[in-house]
Amino acid sequence: MNEFIEFFSDLFTTKYWPPRWKCGYWSDFHGYLYIASELMVWLAYFLIPLIIMNYFARKKSIIRFQKVYLLFASFILLCGSTHFLDALMFWVPMYRFNAVVRLLTGIVSLVTVYHLFKILPQAFKQKTSTELENEIRQRESAELKLAIANAELREANKGLEAFAYVASHDLQEPLRKIRTFTDMAERHGSFEEQGRMYMDRIRAASTRMSGLIEDVLSLSRITGNVERKIIDPNRAVERAMSDLELKIAERKAVINVAPMPKIRGDEGYLTQLFYNLINNAIKFSEAPPVINIDNRMDGDIVEIRVSDNGIGIDKEYVNQIFEPFQRLHARHEYEGSGIGLAISKKIVDVHGGQLTVESEKGKGSTFIIRLPWAFSGK
Ligand code: ADP
Repeated sequence: MNEFIEFFSDLFTTKYWPPRWKCGYWSDFHGYLYIASELMVWLAYFLIPLIIMNYFARKKSIIRFQKVYLLFASFILLCGSTHFLDALMFWVPMYRFNAVVRLLTGIVSLVTVYHLFKILPQAFKQKTSTELENEIRQRESAELKLAIANAELREANKGLEAFAYVASHDLQEPLRKIRTFTDMAERHGSFEEQGRMYMDRIRAASTRMSGLIEDVLSLSRITGNVERKIIDPNRAVERAMSDLELKIAERKAVINVAPMPKIRGDEGYLTQLFYNLINNAIKFSEAPPVINIDNRMDGDIVEIRVSDNGIGIDKEYVNQIFEPFQRLHARHEYEGSGIGLAISKKIVDVHGGQLTVESEKGKGSTFIIRLPWAFSGK
């Protein structure tokens, strides 16, 4: 114990040993060769940690295994200082201090080895820059292919929409002629009762066809060029309810609307969406309709649920109802053309959202609109 205390109290003492020049026989050449080599090693071991620390300070945010960098820098610095002390011993024989620095170097070296072992499995898993570059290149090429496919799809859709628009527009003209000539034939010809009945049926069929063409036109008019203003969907619901005022009163419908947050979109389209959903909820119910319009935030998605106590939809058909002209009932049971939900779905689609339904026959239906809160367009 005494030895220990004495050691540390005289840590920097030089009196017990001669300077190294005096130990054994050193020629000047031999001594200075030794000293110069030690100083060169020390200089390199001093500069390397500086470079490591400079790199560390600049890239700290992206460096993994930070502790190992710091340990490595200290380990090299300490190794360097042992070489410096060895050169110094030629004049200043601080053998005790030298021993302590070497002990410290030994401890830090072993701790560095331990940490290196610890990170080795993770380090092996790290991707090399070539692997990362390859991965990025593959991802970029996949993204490019997807962008090209999307652009082609958009072009094809645009073409299809333009075709539907022109075709529907042009089809109205011969239909108008059919109706006009039916009227003229009836006025100028002398038809029996049966002939007049046939004329009525031609007129009714062409009116219905005209309605269907109008439906196709309204569907093709909804394109990706929707407005992206910040709007209040509560207003869209109010406007839809005001358009349906008579029906609501007639069927004594109760509609509960929870206040909705503002969203980005097209108020006209959203009014049409709520009109279609509320109209269906009133139409497809036997009991006095009770309609609840609730909402909640799901991340940056606004989820609006329009639920009713109506006749519900057979699970088997829930996906079909969003297709144009798909109806689950005959026209004499519930009037309609089967275009409302196709239009509604397209409105939600062009807003970057999804329209789905949860329903069971006889247990009401819930239509779920999911819209990105800050929709910025496709
Ligand atoms: P339409 O109302 O003109 O028939 P829609 O496209 O709006 O056309 O609806 C398609 C079909 O989906 C309807 O014919 C009906 O069978 C079913 N449907 C839509 N909404 C509801 C609802 N709220 N409850 C029950 N069935 C519904």
